[in-house]
Amino acid sequence: MAGKDRGKSGRILQVLKNNPEKIRVVVEGLNLKFKHLKPKRGNEKGQRIMFPAPLNSANVQLICPKCGQTARIGYKIFENRNELTREKKQRICKKCQAVI
Ligand SMILES: [Zn+2]
Repeated sequence: MAGKDRGKSGRILQVLKNNPEKIRVVVEGLNLKFKHLKPKRGNEKGQRIMFPAPLNSANVQLICPKCGQTARIGYKIFENRNELTREKKQRICKKCQAVI
């Protein structure tokens, strides 16, 4: 939602919770940065590796896989008597009610 990749979307690869107040996420194909690797031996060339850098989770928004829109999230309790957990709290899209 901010910066050079504003408006783009991708799959979440990793969620970094080192600091609970500042959760960061790594999104596939977004916020790409180059990492420079120095040659380990004299006859090797240095390499540039492109990798997605973590983004502040405040700057990303979930897109509902069903309706394809930025999803506002709600929670719904489903009763599930056949399983060990009788109640299951599921995250749903407020627009189409799909479980995300
Ligand atoms: Zn939806």
